[in-house]
Amino acid sequence: MIAYLRKNGKDMKRPAVFLDRDGTIVYDRPGHYLTDPERLRIYKGAFQALKIMSALGYRLIVVTNQAGIGRGYMTLKTSVAINLKLRRDLAAKGVFLDGIYFCPHLPDEGCACRKPGPGLIKEALKHHRIDLSRSVVIGDKTCDMKLADSLGLASILVKTGHGRSELRKRPGLAGGRAVKKGLLEAAAWIKGLG
Ligand SMILES: [Mg+2]
Repeated sequence: MIAYLRKNGKDMKRPAVFLDRDGTIVYDRPGHYLTDPERLRIYKGAFQALKIMSALGYRLIVVTNQAGIGRGYMTLKTSVAINLKLRRDLAAKGVFLDGIYFCPHLPDEGCACRKPGPGLIKEALKHHRIDLSRSVVIGDKTCDMKLADSLGLASILVKTGHGRSELRKRPGLAGGRAVKKGLLEAAAWIKGLG
C-alpha cells in the first residue's frame, strides 16, 4: 500500500535507494512497535545521509513491513500518520522522499508485498522511472537483504536497529554485501560506487 507518493512528472530514469524504515531511518526498540506518530525518532545521521544519496541522483523510496496493522496494534490510519510524520520531519530539514510503500499484512497471510517479497518495489516501479540495475536496498534485517538478493540488487546491511543481532544470528548474512554502521556510512559507500 502507499502512504505517500511524490509527483515527479516525466522525470528521467534514475536509480533508487529502497530504504527500510524501522531500525534504518528511525529508531526501532526491540519488542516495541512504533504505534504513535509522536514517538517517531529519526537517526541523527539520516538527514545528511539521505541528502547525499539524493544529491547523487538516487530516488529515495521507503519500503516497510508493518505487520503491527495486521496484528491489531495500530490502525491503518495510524500507520499512514506515522509515515506522513516521517515524510514531514525529513522535509522540514530538506530531505524529500519520493514514495513510502508499506505492507500491512501478517507473515502468514501469503501476500505479495511483505518483504522479502518484491511486491513493494514492483509497486514503486509503476510510479517512478527507476533504473533498477543501479538501485540499492538498505535495511537492518534479513528480509531486506533477501529482497535485494532476489532482485539481484546491491545491498547494504546497517548495524542500527536489529542489524547487529541479525549479524550475530546469521554471520553469513554479511557475504556479498556491504555492512555499515548506519545510514551515513551507507551513503559514503554509495558515493564510492561512482
Ligand atoms: Mg527494519
